[in-house]
Order: sequence, then structure tokens, then C-alpha cells
Amino acid sequence: MAFELEKLPYAENALEPHIDAETMAIHYGRHHQAYVDNLNKAIAGTDAENLSLDEIIKNISKYSGAVRNNGGGHYNHSLFWSVLSANGGKEPTGELADAIKEAFGSFDELKSQLQSAGATRFGSGWAWLIVGKDGKLAVTSTPNQDNPLMDVAEVQGTPIFGIDVWEHAYYLKYQNKRPAYLEAIFNVVDWDAVAKRYQEAK
Ligand code: MN
Repeated sequence: MAFELEKLPYAENALEPHIDAETMAIHYGRHHQAYVDNLNKAIAGTDAENLSLDEIIKNISKYSGAVRNNGGGHYNHSLFWSVLSANGGKEPTGELADAIKEAFGSFDELKSQLQSAGATRFGSGWAWLIVGKDGKLAVTSTPNQDNPLMDVAEVQGTPIFGIDVWEHAYYLKYQNKRPAYLEAIFNVVDWDAVAKRYQEAK
């Protein structure tokens, strides 16, 4: 069973002006597609062909670097597209809002911690909002295409929101201004989608 690139849940220009259509076209159509293709090549003829992506990611220490990089790339980008929306930018509500208040004090503090995690990640990687093993929300970051679901992650948990801080995610529009991208992206976060992931994870 080969992995496939899921259809993008909105048009490539839907997140303009915060994420431009050209960046989205290259990021989704080329980068994400390459992670899927290279993951399929890396697991071809192995037992991993019969596993779900979650099963592979949770036991990633058993696999090659190619599976880690491309399996992580496929997992991370699938999550990323699903938590963005043209109708985003509102603040979380309901149980997720309560959990954010409990863990961080306020939504602004969560936003600030995510921006700081993304800005200080040297080189390429991700900033994450996770449900930790204690059931509480936490902010963390990972290098390259690792993620907190991996058994090799320094801080482990279930990611419910992530921000891609690879240059390919923002360079065409924001060049070296990663903090400007980290501000703009909050205009397109779909907190209802994050709340759904929170319910599943906790
Ligand atoms: Mn990316």
C-alpha cells in the first residue's frame, strides 16, 4: 500500500495574502509530493508498507533516515494543511480555550510561545502545540521533519497544531523575516480544526 498526497482542502490562493499562492503551489505540489514519493521508495518491499503512517512515526527509531525524514515530512505537512483555513484567524473556543488558559494563562501567551519556538529553531524545523503525556498542552519544537509523536523526540506528545519554519514555507514572500511569517500565519489558523485534534488526542 503506497502513501498518497491528499488533496489540499482549499485553493492554493485561499490563504492570500498571508501565505501566497506561489509558495503554496511549490510547498504542497513539489515539497510535500516529494516527501510522499520518497517515503514510498524508502519503504518499498519492507514490512512498513503494511503499516499506517502513525504506526511508523511512533516507532521511527526502528527505521532509516530516509523513512524518518520523508515519513515525518508527509505526516507534518498533512497536519499543517489541515489546521489552516481562509476562514481562520479567530481565537480558540470551548474546551480548547479552557485548556490553553490553564496551560499558558492566555491565548496571547500561547501565541507568543509558539512564535518564540519557531523563531529560535535554528535552521529548519517546526514549532508545535502538543498534548503531552500528562494530558496537558505544551509548546515545543523539533528539527528537520521530526515531530513530537516520534519516539526520538526530546519532548513527546501528540501534535495538534504545528508551524512549518523551513525557509520553503515562507521565503518567497517574507525572505529572511521569519518573525513576520510567524505573525501573519495566525490570520489563517483554523482553531476549530485544532480543537477537533485536541478532542481526539486527550
Ligand atoms: Mn514544509
